[in-house]
Amino acid sequence: MDLNDVRNLKAIDAHNHIFHFPKYDNEMQLNDLETSWKVACAANTDKIFISTMEGVCHTEMVESENDYLWNLSQEVDYLYQWVVIDPRNENSFLQAKRMLNNGKCVGIKLHPREHNYTLAEFGDKIFSFASDFGAVVQIHPEDSATWILPHADKYPDVTFLVAHMCSWLGRAYADAIEQAKHGNVWADTSGSASYCNVGVEYIVNRVGSDKILYGTDGYSSGFQRGRIEYAQISNEDKANILRFNAERLFAKTFEREKK
Ligand SMILES: [Zn+2]
Repeated sequence: MDLNDVRNLKAIDAHNHIFHFPKYDNEMQLNDLETSWKVACAANTDKIFISTMEGVCHTEMVESENDYLWNLSQEVDYLYQWVVIDPRNENSFLQAKRMLNNGKCVGIKLHPREHNYTLAEFGDKIFSFASDFGAVVQIHPEDSATWILPHADKYPDVTFLVAHMCSWLGRAYADAIEQAKHGNVWADTSGSASYCNVGVEYIVNRVGSDKILYGTDGYSSGFQRGRIEYAQISNEDKANILRFNAERLFAKTFEREKK
């Protein structure tokens, strides 16, 4: 595989967002679906996995946003859904029960910081539920990535996708992937921390590229794509990150679609 093959490879953006309602729009981050998709296409992407910013940032909107994305993802080819759980909201568990391993739902999205809770309090409740579904859980880190290890080691049937690679203590992502007893910790490149000098390279050198997903958080996808395309890692590693790892991890979702 040469660099041109990498450039021509359609990416799967496993961590993206859209804004649903103008009343919550931030002037600097106004990505409705159409905008997000244009930006993703410019970065040669053919699938985006989404939670809405309203669902992630406003606990009172979790349920309505989950329903909104469930319906939207049935209509829009390139769109996939993370179902948001707020552990204090029983209805969000009922929604996840309906949506997981169904339709175009790829897993559970957690944002303890925006929703104002901690995994110390609610980890067991959430991950025992996730375990019943063998779910992938995308989580915004509360601390350096190794904070996930007690949960990952306790729930081997859950895949823990720690977002925003290189944030907090960057090398902790390599530590967490390496030290997880069941090999069930993954990371995504979303956010600005992975732009740091040799961050992506350090982690790939330590633990390989097999458990790293491409994600943009909806911020300047072309910038993130360029970070991977021009990283000092092999072209095979770049292709794994941009697409092949997601094809592998979410194979069941993509198979469901073909039926
Ligand atoms: Zn995000």
